[in-house]
Amino acid sequence: MCAGGFSGGDGGAVRTSWGSATDRGRVREVNEDALLAYPPVFLVADGMGGHDAGDLASRIAVEEFAQLAGQSSASSDDVHACFARTSSRIRTEFTRGRQGGTTVAGAAVTAHDGGWYWLVFNVGDSRVYRCSEGALEQVSVDHSVVQELLDSGELTPDAARRHPERHVLTRALGTGEPPEPDYWLLPAGADDRLLICTDGLTRELSDTEIADVLASVDDPQEASALLVQHALERGGRDNVSAVVVDVATTVTPEPTHTTLPRTAPDLGPHLWDEMLNGATVPRHAAALQDDPPTPVPPASSPVDAQEDPA
Ligand code: MN
Repeated sequence: MCAGGFSGGDGGAVRTSWGSATDRGRVREVNEDALLAYPPVFLVADGMGGHDAGDLASRIAVEEFAQLAGQSSASSDDVHACFARTSSRIRTEFTRGRQGGTTVAGAAVTAHDGGWYWLVFNVGDSRVYRCSEGALEQVSVDHSVVQELLDSGELTPDAARRHPERHVLTRALGTGEPPEPDYWLLPAGADDRLLICTDGLTRELSDTEIADVLASVDDPQEASALLVQHALERGGRDNVSAVVVDVATTVTPEPTHTTLPRTAPDLGPHLWDEMLNGATVPRHAAALQDDPPTPVPPASSPVDAQEDPA
């Protein structure tokens, strides 16, 4: 469904229009993805744990973040509280040894220094991209073993796409640890377009293919549906979800940018394997290689969102 929405306050308003699409794909038995698209918050969640676990975990995330729906904007405290509630509800509702978790990646309209911004947030390997003046830029940084190998220079991007550990996450919600989202603050520039998607999209389509759709299809609903359709045509080996958000703002954002502090990753045993039994399931320590990749602090700093002054 295509929709238009208004987030606003005393300082003006941010107008958004958006579209979304999700599909079980051609291999999985259950769609463990879930998404939320309602101002001021837009997100995808990729659940893990299999039937009655992964789909429940991602739905819990959507329910908790949906409590922000209808607000004029969301503060970083608001968003962080949603992460905390999601995490604790997954722990509470998953009893008797049942294990489940979810990624969450998205963006919320937030007021900062008298301007309007996107507060981009991420836990896991779902992604937020920004398409600005035809260029596609990945804003979020994956929490995955492969991302760490990329950061340390041990893998090339090409090798990363084929790496056997490419499905293994280093952070997710529902692991029992406090949530450790990363945050980025981007000026909500007119003409900017955000894409929020699960790995079912980015594993099937290259950045160039994604950028082509975002640049050529004006309507955000048509764009999100076409992206999902292309991923299905490529095999649809995973659940696939996309949210496309267009933004126009009535307030000129401040040219400054701020990056909120991020915490160091806690690389515990919270690893997940995708595509076992058609689902994403917890990865047992015994399944690790004898010599697992040494966790490294993220070399990837949050994306520098500073815009060149016009
Ligand atoms: Mn997935």
